[in-house]
Amino acid sequence: MPRMSDPGTNNALALVWFRNDLRLDDNPALQAALDHGYTPIPVYIHAPDEGGEWRDGAASNAWRHRSLAALDASLRRRGSHLRHFFGPSLATLQAVVATTGAEAVFWNRRYEPAYEQRDAHIKLTLRSQGLHVESFNSALLFEPWTVRNRQGKPFKVFTPFWKTLQAQWQLPLCVDGPARIPGTEDGPAGVPLDALHLAPKRDWDRGFWSEWTPGEEGARGALETFVDGALRGYAHQRERPDRVGTSRLSPHLHFGEIAPWRVLSALERGRTAANAADIDAFARELGWREFAHHLLHHFPETPSRDFDARFHGFDWAQVSPTRLRAWQEGRTGIPIVDAGMRELWRTGWMHNRVRMIAASYLTKHLRYHWRHGARWFWDTLVDADLANNTLGWQWVAGTGADAAPYFRVFNPVLQAQKFDPDGRYIARWLPELAELPLPLRFAPWQEPNTVQRLAPDYPPVPLVDPAAGRDAALAAYRRMRA
Ligand code: FAD
Repeated sequence: MPRMSDPGTNNALALVWFRNDLRLDDNPALQAALDHGYTPIPVYIHAPDEGGEWRDGAASNAWRHRSLAALDASLRRRGSHLRHFFGPSLATLQAVVATTGAEAVFWNRRYEPAYEQRDAHIKLTLRSQGLHVESFNSALLFEPWTVRNRQGKPFKVFTPFWKTLQAQWQLPLCVDGPARIPGTEDGPAGVPLDALHLAPKRDWDRGFWSEWTPGEEGARGALETFVDGALRGYAHQRERPDRVGTSRLSPHLHFGEIAPWRVLSALERGRTAANAADIDAFARELGWREFAHHLLHHFPETPSRDFDARFHGFDWAQVSPTRLRAWQEGRTGIPIVDAGMRELWRTGWMHNRVRMIAASYLTKHLRYHWRHGARWFWDTLVDADLANNTLGWQWVAGTGADAAPYFRVFNPVLQAQKFDPDGRYIARWLPELAELPLPLRFAPWQEPNTVQRLAPDYPPVPLVDPAAGRDAALAAYRRMRA
C-alpha cells in the first residue's frame, strides 16, 4: 500500500482540524498538510452547541473520548500529538493560527446540515484572512452533490441511486498513514482530554468496552474479524440477531476511524466466486449509508420533519412518558423489542433487524411519532449518525423517501420466530425469560400463569397487544388517506 508523503520541510505550520475522521490512514487533510511540506498541528475542538438541535448524545461522547485518546497515542508514536480546545470553532482556529503563525488550515468534511453551514462560514472567513484553507472527503464513496438523476435532481429512491453509484464505482486508492509526523510545541497547548468531560461521570457505559475498541486500531481489528468470520454467509446471516452475522463497523465508520473504501478494498482483495454474493450484499449496505447522506444533504430538514408531507397531519398518539420510558428501558412486554432495547442500553448498539422491530413497535403499535425514538437512539447508540438514523426511522415509520409503506406493520412475534428461531437472542438480553419454553418465550402473555411462575418480574401483558395495535395503526392510516 502506498504511504503518505514524508514530513514537511518548509518549516511552515498548518492546522489539521480533526472532527469525524479520527484516523491517520486515508486521511486527506493530514496528507494535504504533509504534501505541502507543512508541519501539522493536529487539533480537536469541542463545540457541542455547534451541532444545533443534534449535539452529540451521551454514548457518542463516551466513544469519542476513547477515540480521541487513541488518535493522540498514535500521533505521539509518530512524533506529533493532538491538542484539545473548547469552541467556538472559528474563534479557536483563529486564535491558534494567530499564536503559531500557521499559514494553512485543513479538515475533512462533515455532512450534517448544521456543520455544513458552519464550515462554509469558517472557510470563507479564514480564506478572507489570507490563509490557505482546504477541506476534503474522508467519509464517503460519493459525496452527496456528485450524484444526480437524469433530470439533474437528487435521488429519492434507493435502487436507481445504487445503480448509478455502481456504474461510477471506482474505489480510491488506500494510503497508509505516515510513519513519522513532525511535531511542534509552538502555540497554545490546549486542555487535557479529561477537561472536555466527554467520558461519563457515572460508569453506565461499563458494558460497552468489552464489546468495542474505539479508535483506528479497533476499526482495523473489527474489519479483520469480519473478513475472517461473519463475511462468510453475510447475505443471509446479516438478518440474524442471535449470531454475529454483521461487521459491527458502524461506530468506526461514523467516527471516521476507517474509510469505507478501505473496508471495501479489503473485501474485494479476497473476492472469490464463493463469497461474491456476500461482498455484494455488504457493498449494498454501504450503498444505503451513501443514500442516507445524499438524502440528508439534499433534504436537510428531515432529521425532524417527515419526508412525506402527508404525514404532517397524521394522527400520532399523545406520548405517555411512562409508556415511552417502558419502551426505552425494555419493559414493553414484547420480548424481541425488550431484548433489543436492553442490548442497546448495555452495549450502545442494536442489531439492524431488531432496530426495525423496535422502531416499528414504537411508531405503529404505540403510534408515537418516530422523532421520540430517533432521539433515544441518538443519545444511546455508539454509532448514532444523523444521516443513517434519520433514514432508518423514517424508513420504518413509512414517512421517509423510499420507505416501507406505513401499512406494513411488523408482527413482533413472527419476526422473533423467524430471525431468532431458538430464542437465544431473547434469552441473552432478557435472562429472566431464559426458563420459558419456546414458543412461549416469543409471546409470554399467552400463558400468564406459566409466566407468573417462571418469570415473575417480566410484564405480564404487553403495553399494546400486537393484533390490536396493528388494527389501530391501520385505522389511523386510513383516516389520513381519507
Ligand atoms: P453491517 O450490516 O455490517 O453493514 C455495514 C455498514 O453499512 C454499517 O456499518 C453501516 O455503516 C452501513 N449500513 C448498514 N445498514 C444500513 C442502513 N440500513 N442504513 C444506512 N447504513 C447502513 N446506522 C448507523 O450507522 N447509525 C444510526 O444512528 C442508525 N440508526 C438506525 C435506526 C433505525 C431505526 C434503523 C432501522 C437502522 C439504523 N441504522 C443506523 C442502520 C443499521 O441498523 C446499522 O448501520 C447497522 O446495524 C450497523 O451494524 P453493522 O456495522 O454490523 O452493519
